[in-house]
Amino acid sequence: MHTIEVAGVLIDTRHYVNGERLASPATYTNTSPIDGSFLGEIARGDADSVNAAVAAARAAFPAWSKLGPKKRGELLNKLADLVEANVETLANIETLDNGALLRSHLRGVMPRVAMNIRFFADYAINDLHHDAFETRGHTNNITWDPSGVAALITPWNAPLMLATWKIGPALAAGDTVVLKPAEWTPLTASYFADLTKQAGIPDGVFNVVFGYGTEAGAALTAHTGVSRISFTGSVPTAKIIAHAAADNLTPVSFELGGKSPCIVMADADLDLAAEIAVEQYDNAGQVCLSGTRILVHESVADSFAEKFRSKVAALKQGDPRDPDTDIGPQVHQVHFDRIKGFVDRAVAEGQDIVWGGGPNAELGGLYFQPTLVKNPAPGSEIVSAEIFGPVLCMQTFLTDDDVIAMANGTEFGLAAVVVSGDRDHAKRITDELVAGTIWVNCFFVRDLRAPFGGSKKSGIGRDGGTWSFDFYADVKNTVVSPNGWKE
Ligand code: ADP
Repeated sequence: MHTIEVAGVLIDTRHYVNGERLASPATYTNTSPIDGSFLGEIARGDADSVNAAVAAARAAFPAWSKLGPKKRGELLNKLADLVEANVETLANIETLDNGALLRSHLRGVMPRVAMNIRFFADYAINDLHHDAFETRGHTNNITWDPSGVAALITPWNAPLMLATWKIGPALAAGDTVVLKPAEWTPLTASYFADLTKQAGIPDGVFNVVFGYGTEAGAALTAHTGVSRISFTGSVPTAKIIAHAAADNLTPVSFELGGKSPCIVMADADLDLAAEIAVEQYDNAGQVCLSGTRILVHESVADSFAEKFRSKVAALKQGDPRDPDTDIGPQVHQVHFDRIKGFVDRAVAEGQDIVWGGGPNAELGGLYFQPTLVKNPAPGSEIVSAEIFGPVLCMQTFLTDDDVIAMANGTEFGLAAVVVSGDRDHAKRITDELVAGTIWVNCFFVRDLRAPFGGSKKSGIGRDGGTWSFDFYADVKNTVVSPNGWKE
C-alpha cells in the first residue's frame, strides 16, 4: 500500500523521481499534530533515492534549460492554474499534516503557492533584464543562464508555501529540482508532484525525496551533481549544510531564524501596536520572522500592555480546522517539548510570566498557551534564543539609543517591526536597524518583487524578483567588441 487517503484524496507516500513513484526499503510514521492520529508510513529516503533523483534531474536538465522562459512559463502557469483549482484540497492536507489554521491556508497560503509559481514564471519572461552598457565601445550583455540541479531543503512551518518560493524561481530559471521536504510535513509536496505531472512538466524536471534531514537531506546537500542548495531552517542545520556544500563549493542560499524586535515608540497608536503585537502569535508562533521581542517605551508600557492583554484574551485556541480558531497546535511532540523546555527553564529562573507559561491543560496534546515573559533578565536564554513557539518577551526602553541597541543586540537580523506616529522619528530608528525586512506600522506585508532574507545569522542571500534569479541562475556577461566583424 503506497497511497493514503487524506482530506478525501489519495496521496502517494513514495518519492517522486523522473515522473514516477519510487519506494525506499524503509519508511517512517507521519502523524497529525491536531490529535496525534496516524496519517501514513512515508518513504524514508537514503543515498540511493537521492542518487536516483539527482540523476533524473541532471538528465532532464538539458532539454528543460533549452526550452526557454516562454515555453517554461506556459507549463508553469498551467501548474499555477492547477494549484488554484486545488486550493481547498491542498489547504486541508496541509492543515492535517502541520496543524496550521485551515482558514489561513484557504485564504492566504495556498493562493500564494500558485502566485509563487506564476510570478517567477512571468518574471523570467517579462522582467529579468539588465540594459546592455558600453565599455570603450564594447557592449556588456548580461544574461541569466540555467545552472543545473537545485537542491531544495524546506521546513515544516509553511511547507508548500516555502517550498514553492524556491521551486518557482528555480524552475523558471531553467534549473531542474530535487526537493527534500521536512520529515514532519511531507504530504502537500507529494500531492504537488502529481500536479506537476498533470501540468505537463517533463519527467525529471521536478523530483521529491522524502525522509530525514540527517539521511536524505545530508545525501542531497553533499551530492556532487547539485549546482545550488537552497535551505530554509535552523542555524545549527545551516552550519552542517554549509560544511557539506563547502566540499563541492556549491553555492548556498539560507533563510534562517530570527529573534526580531517589535518596537512600540512613545508616539505610537497603541491600538495598532496591540493589533500588531498579537499577530506575533500567528501560526502558533512558528514563524521565522515573528517580532518575538516586544520593546515598548516605558511611558506607554502599561497602557500598551492592557490593550495587548485584552487582545490575547480574545484569542481562541483549538482545532485548526475550526474557522473560529486563532491558535492551533505545535507541529510535533519533539518541537512542543523544545518550546516547553525554554519556558520551564525561564520559570525555574524566576522570570516574570505575565500570561500563559505552559501547555493548554484543557486541550492537551500539542497545544501550548500563548505566553508572555516580562522584562526578562538581559542575556537570558528566553530573550536571546529563537523559540519558534507562541512565546514572546516584553521589555521597556527610555531612549532611541537604548532601543536601537536592544533591537540589534542579538545574533539574528531577519526582520523588525516599528510602530510609531511620527514618520521622521520612525525613519531615524529604521535607519539604524540591522534586518532584512522592516515593517513600519504594519506586519507581514510581502511582495514577491521585494528582496527577502536575513542579515547576520538569519541567512545568506535574498529571495524575490531578480535576487532569486541571481542565485538559481548563472549570471553571465558577454562582452562584444566593435572590432573584428567581417561585415
Ligand atoms: P527543525 O529542527 O526545526 O526541524 P531543521 O533546520 O533541522 O529545523 O529542518 C529544516 C529542514 O532541514 C528539514 O527538511 C530537515 O529534514 C532538514 N535537515 C535537517 N538536518 C539536515 C542535514 N544534516 N542535512 C540536510 N538537511 C537537513
